[in-house]
Amino acid sequence: MKKNVIAVDKAFKLLSKWAQTIGHVPIIDLMAAGGENPWKILVSTMLSARTKDSVTASSSRKLFKVADTPQKTAKLSVEKLRELIYPVGFYKVKAENLKKLAEIIVEKYSCQVPETVEELVTLPGIGIKTASLVFIKAFNGYDICVDTHVHRIANMWNLVKTDTPEKTREELKKVLPKKYWKELNQHIVTLGQTICRPMKHECGKCPLNKICPESKT
Ligand code: SF4
Repeated sequence: MKKNVIAVDKAFKLLSKWAQTIGHVPIIDLMAAGGENPWKILVSTMLSARTKDSVTASSSRKLFKVADTPQKTAKLSVEKLRELIYPVGFYKVKAENLKKLAEIIVEKYSCQVPETVEELVTLPGIGIKTASLVFIKAFNGYDICVDTHVHRIANMWNLVKTDTPEKTREELKKVLPKKYWKELNQHIVTLGQTICRPMKHECGKCPLNKICPESKT
């Protein structure tokens, strides 16, 4: 029997409308909308891993007051960087990566953040998810940023049948119209953090409850 796949156009229409009502915009989207430069977007995206948006925002502010360029960041010690970015998740490792990242951007890229996912992903502390988000938000590039929520929900909607976020990214590119690539992450992450959490699906409150294959309503 053919699997019930969510209607993509309808889902995006409903999610866009819902996003306007909840008033939550992720920190990196806010920065991009405010025209922040690629260096700040790169650093804040790196800091945001396993960290609440409010903490990413306050740590980024603290850091950027002291060092808002790769040159200034490269001159700081790892200890000082630790102090500035605390309490983001894994701040010790992130401080070390941030120091190396700044040095590489200064020395290898003449202080300019590289503009491709392939180059971004070679930088310290930058995985495919971060590289993809920076490519989309800092350079207005076309890509699909897949985190655990996007991976889980795309499989739940039967858009893909994959066992890793990396495979989900590749498969989603085959089935999703390009016009949805950039906004997919923001919509699904917000849904996954609020109404459709891993252990608790509040289908009664969900804007997609009439079209979702997993709806319990
Ligand atoms: S209808 Fe339920 S299972 Fe489907 S996306 Fe919404 S909360 Fe998740």
